[in-house]
Amino acid sequence: MDIKRKPKWLRVKLNDAHKDKYVKNILNRLSLNTVCEEANCPNKIECFSKKTATFMILGSQCSRNCSFCNVSNNHLEEVDENEPENVAIAATELGLKHVVITSVTRDDLLDGGAMHFAKVIKALRNKNKNIAIEVLIPDFKGDKNAIKYVVEAKPDIINHNIETVPRLYDAVRPQAVYQRSLEVLQEIKNLDSDIYTKSGIMVGLGETCEEVAKTMKDLKNYSCDFLTVGQYLPPSKSHYPVAEYVTPERFKLYKEKALQIGFTFVASEPLVRSSYKASDMLAKAE
Ligand code: SF4
Ligand code: SF4
Repeated sequence: MDIKRKPKWLRVKLNDAHKDKYVKNILNRLSLNTVCEEANCPNKIECFSKKTATFMILGSQCSRNCSFCNVSNNHLEEVDENEPENVAIAATELGLKHVVITSVTRDDLLDGGAMHFAKVIKALRNKNKNIAIEVLIPDFKGDKNAIKYVVEAKPDIINHNIETVPRLYDAVRPQAVYQRSLEVLQEIKNLDSDIYTKSGIMVGLGETCEEVAKTMKDLKNYSCDFLTVGQYLPPSKSHYPVAEYVTPERFKLYKEKALQIGFTFVASEPLVRSSYKASDMLAKAE
């Protein structure tokens, strides 16, 4: 397959400019970032119409440098103490029913930013008791106290992405540890079995089908409930190169395999991202 040209299943229609402007105005006024806007995510129309969006907290600069990711790591910012309240205001103004909170990794902070996650969750709940809250957390370097802060704030779903198969970790996620990421998921369940756990795999990085199946089994063995599988698309030519465009048929096979392994809900399609169909997952589980 010619990997210089995207296959037709990865070409998407343009976003609704009017809706985009409305969302951007709210975010600018409150000094917030969403992954939806920053990454110009191809699913914006669908997610916004389902009242779902993903906010990125703890700044726009990361303390790590994964070779697949477009977030820069030049100058780590002060944590914005107004961010929890501002996220809650934005979620209300946007009429969100399912909010996803993710962050850069902040290895420079003593708790990795876990308390800040907890404050955001609490601020959202204070404004809207019924909103579904999903957090996509970093590994907090495996710090169990940090994980506990987040769990005790009682989000509905905690996601920690495994991202890829263990063989590719050194090349793709050099500061992460495969086993540590699995243990983060297990620790969440150990602390509170009512919280749904979720993880995601990017494919097209050079992994084999057998390696993907093994990673799915590992995730299930570490008590992961929901799974997303999506195509890796490099943000630029200097990022980790895409090895292949996985066909929609293979995505279906991955979904069947994951359901056989026992996940409660699986989203496996070329354009699936961590937060895609997030509200459907929760609805199915409850
Ligand atoms: Fe936003 Fe996630 Fe939906 Fe993309 S998939 S638009 S990042 S909520
Ligand atoms: Fe990007 Fe997350 Fe890696 Fe930071 S830790 S570079 S935000 S993928």
